[in-house]
Amino acid sequence: MGETYPMAMVTAPGVIEFRERSLPALGPQEVLIRVRAASICGSDLHIFKGKHPVAMPPVAVGHELAGEVRQTGEAVSKVSAGDRVAVEPVVVCGECESCLRGEYHLCASISFQYRQGQGAFATYFVAHEDWVHPLPGGLSFEEGALVEPLSVALHALSRIEFRVGQTSAVFGDGPIGLLLLRLIGVMGGGATFVVGARESRLEKARRLGATEAIDHRAGDVVGRILQRTSERGVDAAFEAVGAPEALVQSLQVVRKGGKVVVVGLFEAQEVSIPANLFVQREITLTGAQGYCWDFQTALRLLEQRELNLRTFITHVLPLDSLQEAFELALDPEAGALKVVIKMDG
Ligand SMILES: [Zn+2]
Ligand SMILES: [Zn+2]
Repeated sequence: MGETYPMAMVTAPGVIEFRERSLPALGPQEVLIRVRAASICGSDLHIFKGKHPVAMPPVAVGHELAGEVRQTGEAVSKVSAGDRVAVEPVVVCGECESCLRGEYHLCASISFQYRQGQGAFATYFVAHEDWVHPLPGGLSFEEGALVEPLSVALHALSRIEFRVGQTSAVFGDGPIGLLLLRLIGVMGGGATFVVGARESRLEKARRLGATEAIDHRAGDVVGRILQRTSERGVDAAFEAVGAPEALVQSLQVVRKGGKVVVVGLFEAQEVSIPANLFVQREITLTGAQGYCWDFQTALRLLEQRELNLRTFITHVLPLDSLQEAFELALDPEAGALKVVIKMDG
């Protein structure tokens, strides 16, 4: 005991500081992981800006990570020292109705490690073995960190019965929006429209197979998508921005009987929507919260090389450049999509 290691916290809006944290004694089913890569998520940026709805500074940041197992508790059987792993960063009770039903993402007291004081921009990370997933061979630690956002996108897609050949519109050109675009491509979706606001990302959307990548600032997003679908509308729309306007548009571009999945995080608490559309067109609107058994699916997809996460990584920086990494991730001019912090073993 007595050994400490640095862990990053946002101590005030716009300020990252490293605090020393002591290495805990491992519980019987706990795993000590040497973090090798951690990526910056939109929610980390909300915290950095001081605009996260619940996590206010000072708070730990980082929940997308991969690393190497260093030590295991006496009862751990799933992994052993030296294994390369990704970590599912949730904290759930295991006892509430949702947990007992197997829907742990809906746990009555769902939380994340960083909100409990453990962030991923650190030398070490401790997790219960249930949440530690071995990485397939050949997958880098940087890609391993992106299993978390990939799981979010997979979960959003699993919320509706989206079928081969069906058309869709993805609102949002951030990592989740573009991961959704790729997943739709992998499963053989039909025409896929991506709506975004950054030219570098729209360009990436085109390269990743978008039928059309639309800059929402040009206006008439709905008219454009309706025109491209002969006024029918798309089978499904995904709201991956958290913007009231995008939610309304996602309802307006789906066909009669179409489906809308909301996965974006809204800063606004209330949004007014064209309610009569639901009745007239029998639209289904559904939410998607985090992930639940989606890490396993994500890792199988990656093992089969169905999609390449490297194309989502635009910047790789060392841990001591974390402040710069956050600023870069927020700078629209920097062309950042996923900023990953890489740490040596
Ligand atoms: Zn995330
Ligand atoms: Zn629970």
